[in-house]
Amino acid sequence: MLKLITTLILSGTFALGTGYAPARTPDANFGPSNPFYAPSTLPFHAPPFDKIKDEDYQPAIEAGMAEEIAEIQAIADNPAAPTFENTLVAKERTGRLLQRAMAAFGAVTDANSDPVLLKVRAEEAPKLAAHQDTIYLNAKLFARVDAVYKQRKSLQLDPESLRLLEVTHDNFVRSGANLSDADKGQLKKLNGEIATLSNEFSTRVLAATKDGAYATTDKNTLAGLSDTQLAAAAQAAQSRKQMGYALPLQNTTQQPMLSSLSVRATREAIFENSWNRAERGDANDTRDIIAHLAQLRAQRAQLLGYPNHAAWKLGDQMAKAPEAALKFMDALVPGATAKAASEAKDIQDLIDAQKGGFTLQPWDWEFYSEQVRKAKYDLNEEDVKPYLELNNVLENGVFYAAHQLYGITFKERKDIPVYQPDVRVFEVSDADGKPLALFYCDYFKRDNKNGGAWMDEFVHESKLLGTLPVVYNVANFEKPAPDEPALISFTDVTTMFHEFGHALNAMFADTEYPSLSGTATARDFVEFPSQFNEHWALYPGVINHYAKHYKTGAPMPTELVANVKKSQTFDQGYMLTELLAAAELDMQWHMLPASAPLQQPDEFEKQALEKTHLLLSDVPPRYRSTYFSHIWSGDYSAGYYAYLWSEMLDDDAFQWFEDHGGLTRANGDRFRRMVLSRGNTEDLAKMYAAWRGKEPSVEPMLKYRGLQESGH
Ligand SMILES: [Zn+2]
Repeated sequence: MLKLITTLILSGTFALGTGYAPARTPDANFGPSNPFYAPSTLPFHAPPFDKIKDEDYQPAIEAGMAEEIAEIQAIADNPAAPTFENTLVAKERTGRLLQRAMAAFGAVTDANSDPVLLKVRAEEAPKLAAHQDTIYLNAKLFARVDAVYKQRKSLQLDPESLRLLEVTHDNFVRSGANLSDADKGQLKKLNGEIATLSNEFSTRVLAATKDGAYATTDKNTLAGLSDTQLAAAAQAAQSRKQMGYALPLQNTTQQPMLSSLSVRATREAIFENSWNRAERGDANDTRDIIAHLAQLRAQRAQLLGYPNHAAWKLGDQMAKAPEAALKFMDALVPGATAKAASEAKDIQDLIDAQKGGFTLQPWDWEFYSEQVRKAKYDLNEEDVKPYLELNNVLENGVFYAAHQLYGITFKERKDIPVYQPDVRVFEVSDADGKPLALFYCDYFKRDNKNGGAWMDEFVHESKLLGTLPVVYNVANFEKPAPDEPALISFTDVTTMFHEFGHALNAMFADTEYPSLSGTATARDFVEFPSQFNEHWALYPGVINHYAKHYKTGAPMPTELVANVKKSQTFDQGYMLTELLAAAELDMQWHMLPASAPLQQPDEFEKQALEKTHLLLSDVPPRYRSTYFSHIWSGDYSAGYYAYLWSEMLDDDAFQWFEDHGGLTRANGDRFRRMVLSRGNTEDLAKMYAAWRGKEPSVEPMLKYRGLQESGH
């Protein structure tokens, strides 16, 4: 599964240092009694959750912003000539109060929320966005950064310092710092229009998705749903003040309910609701908005000196240019669509065997593929779970694999305060016994926790600031009854390995500057360490070590392990094809030049898919243009390919391990030294190629996803 880590709202504002006096403006609501006032005195500067109360966050965030602005202004106003030290390094030291407050605030707001925290978030979000603009549009600060940048060849900086200079300068330039005042005015105007339209898009899609729910009073049309699903549907209708049942839409084209619904007409109606939700010519129609958004983004890119929006967005990514992302996707299309076609044939065979008398359509796919899956793999989740007890998976699986690869060890600490009693804390020691990091895990579902799973940090590693990483993983596994074992699914196991892969990237960080540390990498790289770590979940020497029956300790039967493994490639043709179609739509929209006329979205979409050989009758894109929130209101414009790109990297990297003896300390240490510890301290493509010995290739991805015959 593809998961996102949450990103700090304010990247580049980080934890405490030593011997640096903050330029703090006095604030009546904020004083020494606030637990964020001074750096934490706990081990690793862990947040003092035993002292932090909800009402402490807002004054600390407000004071933190004021402090950072004062610090930034002091750098900008420095009468001394600009140097790397008094400008770039000084900027790295700013914003420590804001970082400590925001890191703790972000963690509890996402994982242990309450109305007070949500109110603070709503009030502070626009102020935090404006705060970032205040820093990046500070002309005096940019003039100093630019002056240092222009001398860079004569400064004899070490490689990491040079990278810091280049990345910081690039961030300013990409935000428009180099433009004339007139162009800056035009940029602000475009930014404002784009923000307004994005917001309008998001409002309309939310309403369109809500309106798109399938409603019925006839229970017979819902045949196939379980009693629990029916009860939920009745509840959904009630909350909408409707009679009968309602099946709300989720944001993707395909709807999970379609796998259970046996009445074909119901499936078709739900699919139609989903596909056309934002194209009904009503107040929720988004076609006009996306056409204008694409045009405004192209105009902004032109103003900033780029041929199109995609070229601007990819400038600081590993792929560097849209052409590289397109070439990569083109290479996947034949394998993906061929696999999808063979999956479609399996499904059509089943329809024919059941004398269905119709041709497979998108609304049939989920329903029949579920039956094919059961017939093919005979895999019942309930048979697998007794072998996957959470603690055993954590200590004898996730930690064990990391110990085998990197030599690190884990010791639980009960003395570190946590924000909720289910949270556990481990001290992580390096192979030589030295302290490396703190690791928190918060695995159980709660009503006040966001869905999904993620990783983030309370404290970022930085040699400049003298800090070691304090890292956490959050998930949403079912909490067992008291004194019962937590038996989880194999998908949950994969999630644990995934999020721990992000954690390793942060824990091994070995960098001077906080803004280049750990997971502060490009969007098309950041999921690579996490997805790579997933591979060990099924690795024979690892799964045999953790998959043991919770009662008897017996290892998972070989046949069951084989079925789990085989089922991983099931339906991959469909899933990869729908992802590719969405990623291609994203890229085609955002490669329009400023000179292109306003587009007709339906026609544009059809042509974009046709051109890329992805206009398929039974595999529609994962998101249609008109409800593709990632790219119109989220932060994934010209960036949806990143999910696939990092899959290429993780499979290619795992292939290297397989070719070099697999799970060994030597392999792990080399990967840690050359990749995991490096953060964003080097050009990511060069870093990868130096470790891999060549550029990444797509063949291992095709192999591991079951999209071509394996040579191994
Ligand atoms: Zn992730």
